[in-house]
This record gives sequence, structure tokens and C-alpha cells, in this order.
Amino acid sequence: MEDVYTLGLDIGAAAAKCVLLKNGAELIASAVVPSGVRSSGAKKAAAAVLESAKISRDMVACVTATGYGRNIYGDADLTLSELSCHALGAYSELESVKTVIDIGGQDVKAIRVGKNGTPENFVMNDKCAAGTGRFLEVMARILELEVSELEKVGEKAKNPVMISSTCTVFAESEVISRLAADTDISDIVAGIHNSVAVKAAGLARMLKVEEPVVMTGGVAKNGGVVKAVERELGVKIHIPPFPQLNGAYGAAVHAWRNVKKR
Ligand code: ADP
Repeated sequence: MEDVYTLGLDIGAAAAKCVLLKNGAELIASAVVPSGVRSSGAKKAAAAVLESAKISRDMVACVTATGYGRNIYGDADLTLSELSCHALGAYSELESVKTVIDIGGQDVKAIRVGKNGTPENFVMNDKCAAGTGRFLEVMARILELEVSELEKVGEKAKNPVMISSTCTVFAESEVISRLAADTDISDIVAGIHNSVAVKAAGLARMLKVEEPVVMTGGVAKNGGVVKAVERELGVKIHIPPFPQLNGAYGAAVHAWRNVKKR
């Protein structure tokens, strides 16, 4: 039988993610590109993936787009909600998954996963930057760090500070005051991780957390936040090999399922 290629695109607020799958399971190529204006990041991500796999667009049997930018991306055969793609992506990695906690650039979701990787229920915070990747970006900037450096810095904490503000803007002032008081950066970073974790865990509890729990989204690349969420919820959290690609992976699996139905 001929190989079937499908493409999944997750066009998020912060980054456009693209995954190319062979026969619905084998990850051939992937890309993460800043979202840019309208579909510019998504187009770049798709082009980069096709180029690195040496596959032309007409060799791709189906493209599914998800994420907040899915409806303005012009080159998708199908679109699917982020909730469905994240549930399906996590299910494709761990079939027994019951709960997905996705922390992205501008929202946090907790999803109950049902049969065949379909979402059964969900709760979401997309009203406020606190507890999202954006919060970490803002804090990293004040500390003159990259988001990718936060985990390592936070690991050295001895007395994590308590960030009491629930608002990103006020929390920013709190961190600036801590810096002025010469508080150790690692303790500040660990406090920032805890602050994100408390919000995500609070949201997930509204859904009643059932194990196994999978964490996805760009923030799952930060082990400091993952450990803090584990502590808050008292559960072990599974991280897929490429957590930021999870939505795009689910989209590519959805495209594959549609090709199989034809
Ligand atoms: P969206 O789908 O909303 O665009 P993502 O799931 O791509 O969001 O997550 C983006 C967030 O992931 C960023 O705001 C940042 O906090 C975090 N992030 C991105 N890359 C890394 C990294 N290398 N290490 C730690 N955190 C990261």
C-alpha cells in the first residue's frame, strides 16, 4: 500500500506549529514558527516541514488546521477545534489518557478525554494572561531571561517567593519590587512557576482530575511548571515527546482518520 502523508497545523497566539505524519503515526517532520501576522507563521511552518521532508503539497492527502488562526489559513482541507486536536494528540501518544492540561501562549485548558480521543468535557481560561505562557514571557523579560532558561534557573531555588497578585500587571510590579530588594533570581523564578501551576491546577480541579494526566502546550517544555502542577494536584504528569506540537499532531491524526474514511 502506498504511504499516506497528512499535515496538521496548529496556529496559536504565540506560535504556529506544523507536523507531517506518515500513515497517521510516524512523525516525519515538524516546525515551530512565531505566528506573525495573520497566516504568515503558519505558511512558513508548513513550507519548512514540506521542504525538510522533501514532499510537495500535492503529495499530502489531507491538511487539518486548528488553533485560533485556523479559519484564516487558506490552504487547509479541514478545520477542527483546539480542544479536539489536543485530546486526539494526547490520546495518540497515550491511549489511556483521561485528562489533558494544555498551557499555551494565551490560554489554559483542562480537557476530559473520552472514547477514541474525543473531548468529553472541558474548562478554559482565555480571559486573563495569569497562568499562561504569556505570563512566563512577561516575567522572563523583566528578569532578562529566555522562557527556555526559566526551568534551569528555578531549579536552584531555596526559598521560592510567594507571588500574591492574581493579575499579570500587578505580579510584574511584585517581581520588580523583589528584584529591588535583591531577592535571589532562582527564588523569584520558582515563585513564578508556582503561580502558573496554582492557576492551572485550580482550573483542572474544576473538571475533577482523573489519571492518567497529560500536559501539553509550550509551557509543558518547562519542567519547573510541570513539577509545580504535579505538587499542586498530587498526581504524576505525562509529557508527550513534543508537547508544543501536540495540537498539530492531533490535527494530522484527524486528517489521517478522514483519509481512511474516504
Ligand atoms: P499557543 O498555541 O497559544 O501559540 P504554545 O502552546 O505554542 O501557545 O505555547 C507558547 C508558550 O510556551 C510561550 O508563551 C512560552 O511561555 C512557552 N514556551 C515556548 N517555548 C518554550 C521553551 N523552549 N521552554 C519553555 N517554555 C517555552
